[in-house]
Amino acid sequence: MQFIDLERQYRVIEDDVKRRMNNVLETQHYIMGPEVLEMEKKLADFVGRKYCLSCASGTDALVIPLMAYGLTKKDAVFVPSFTFFASAESVNLAGGTPIFVDIDEYYNMNPDSLEKAINKTLEEGKLIPRGIIPVDLFGQSADYDAILPIAEKYGLFVLEDAAQGFGGNIRGKRNGSFGDVSATSFFPAKPLGCYGDGGAIFTDDEKLYKLMTSIRVHGQGNDKYDNVRMGLNGRMDTLQAAVILSKLEVFEKELIERNRVADSYRRHLEGVFELPKVQEGFYSSWAQFTMRAKDSEQRDEIIAKMKKKNIPIMVYYPIPLHEQTAYSSENHDKESLRFGSEVAKRVFSVPMHPYLEENEIVAICDALKDIVGA
Ligand SMILES: *Cc1c(COP(=O)(O)O)cnc(C)c1O
Repeated sequence: MQFIDLERQYRVIEDDVKRRMNNVLETQHYIMGPEVLEMEKKLADFVGRKYCLSCASGTDALVIPLMAYGLTKKDAVFVPSFTFFASAESVNLAGGTPIFVDIDEYYNMNPDSLEKAINKTLEEGKLIPRGIIPVDLFGQSADYDAILPIAEKYGLFVLEDAAQGFGGNIRGKRNGSFGDVSATSFFPAKPLGCYGDGGAIFTDDEKLYKLMTSIRVHGQGNDKYDNVRMGLNGRMDTLQAAVILSKLEVFEKELIERNRVADSYRRHLEGVFELPKVQEGFYSSWAQFTMRAKDSEQRDEIIAKMKKKNIPIMVYYPIPLHEQTAYSSENHDKESLRFGSEVAKRVFSVPMHPYLEENEIVAICDALKDIVGA
């Protein structure tokens, strides 16, 4: 069994992907070909933003807007402690300093913890609060109803990390449209993935969009060889855009299927583990279906025994960011990051993709129940 079965998806879209990729091969516009612009337009319409700027990865989609904000080491950017490394790494790459914030029961940034961290930073006076990176972890939007007013109150920018959240929404307002600017990833395993690395940035801010367009290509000015600022080679290639165009055709249907799979897991595993909760009015794109075992021993047992049954189990994430070696030299308010550290010991994720069939879900759930004696 595959954790994310990209082959089944490929069989569904095969003809269309081949046709679109072949068209790129026949016309040789490998960089910034017409498919890139067509995709950007469709993605902007999909999320409901004025501008979409595609780029080379989800990491670049975070780094480019942060470079546009012109961070220095004294600038603090608030990031949840429980997320993929790139959510915070991007801040360092852009020259700023990440400050970690605890998560809530939805695995997303805890708004109370955020406000406490902002106030603590202000009191200490060493760093200047500049921005917030809420993450739509596992497919569910962060709590923007609570976070956006805090950003407003303290005058901070909000960069939404929607790398896992593309396709999710809050009362119909889609992920990729929250805050000042949003980043997503098209890494193959994400809800909307290409066949390599890719990403996209969304904003309604024309000035920011123009600045990011320049940063995407070596800080380009009016002319290709006129460089007015530092930038990078951050373009997404045309073949990958062709793949995204193809996958967009089936994406809405896949979201419904992902929710079908999540509902089914929920029905079969009710009362057995701590299941993922979805906030009222939120719609998840279910990048992952993540639950909590009783303790780390039970989780180890589950992983080992499921492996024997050939069912892959993944742990997202075993080490919170403030406990990562790369951040070990910094001072963290560990006590305030307790919940993320605690869940990191117990979380595990089961296979999740739109093509998972009911009999497979039942087999996975039966195996899990068998292991824990439920
Ligand atoms: C995957 C991911 C990224 C980085 O995306 P890449 O395309 O792999 O660079 C950033 N943030 C989160 C939350 C992610 O899951």
